[in-house]
Amino acid sequence: MLSNFERYPLTFGPTPIEPLKRLSAHLGGGVELYAKREDCNSGLAFGGNKLRKLEYIVPDAIKSGADTLVSIGGVQSNHTRMVAAVAAKIGMKCRLIQEAWVPHEDAVYDRVGNILLSRLMGAEAQLVDDGFDIGIRDSWKRAIAEVEAEGGKPYAIPAGASVHKYGGLGYVGFAEEVRAQEAEMGITFDYVVVCTVTGSTHAGMLVGFSADGRARNVIGIDASCTPAQTKAQVLDIAQNTAALVGAGDIVADDVVLLEDYAYPVYGVPSKETVEAIRLSARLEGMITDPVYEGKSMQGMIDLVKTGYFPTGSKVLYAHLGGAPAINGYSYTFRNG
Ligand SMILES: *Cc1c(COP(=O)(O)O)cnc(C)c1O
Repeated sequence: MLSNFERYPLTFGPTPIEPLKRLSAHLGGGVELYAKREDCNSGLAFGGNKLRKLEYIVPDAIKSGADTLVSIGGVQSNHTRMVAAVAAKIGMKCRLIQEAWVPHEDAVYDRVGNILLSRLMGAEAQLVDDGFDIGIRDSWKRAIAEVEAEGGKPYAIPAGASVHKYGGLGYVGFAEEVRAQEAEMGITFDYVVVCTVTGSTHAGMLVGFSADGRARNVIGIDASCTPAQTKAQVLDIAQNTAALVGAGDIVADDVVLLEDYAYPVYGVPSKETVEAIRLSARLEGMITDPVYEGKSMQGMIDLVKTGYFPTGSKVLYAHLGGAPAINGYSYTFRNG
């Protein structure tokens, strides 16, 4: 589906799929859990899902003649870290708006983890007070205008690289990659579990997996805590991406988004999220974060426990990255 689109390689290649044997056994052994390690996909600043998306956006940025990538996220945004890394790698400047998306009080929240790495890679990170919103923001438009006023040539990348004409392509490629790996492994996954916030990861998967009728087997776990807006954005991106690649249409019922695990709010882990992070760390040595993957891990564990997946199902957990953010939650994990 992607042969007509230019791709700038930023990742190592296909990501490994590994069985989560001890976690599966701990949960009764009736469901086989696997992880696809998108968190280990690149040597660029710890990698993660945004790189798959950016691979299809970078050629357009280079062609535009820009000298500065401008993007936006929360203070501990993984996405802005990835944009900073890409800017360094392709020799552009980087301007980042870091909004106060998370009502989390940790003395070093704006000094460690993702934002530390972005600054280290030379990005100019500007902290602003606006709260959580996955839509297009005034602070981002202002940053673009500022770069222009200073004589630079900005290239704008929206939050999560999602609401961009090419934002959904990377995860269409993910689905194609999974199909090839299934053929190699001689198995088929019955479900894919994915954490969903700005929506293009889930949306790309919907388009990619619709090719073999599996769009509704993609189980989105909302971590935005604004699920109506997230669901609408997933559908919109999926429909635009389907049209772009010439795939069949995606309809509202194709978007399965479970809303029960995002509480209390975006970026703040519940007691159950923290327990899921500990469980995956202690049984598998696999690190998940309090903002995204801890919530999808919590969701997957709960779905296994409550019988959502029929016995014998093979479930693929898409591990999208995000571990650096855990440094901003040191007090939560002070005793492990
Ligand atoms: C951005 C991100 C997500 C959510 O992906 P979207 O495409 O924004 O829905 C999930 N997990 C991690 C680690 C992320 O950085």
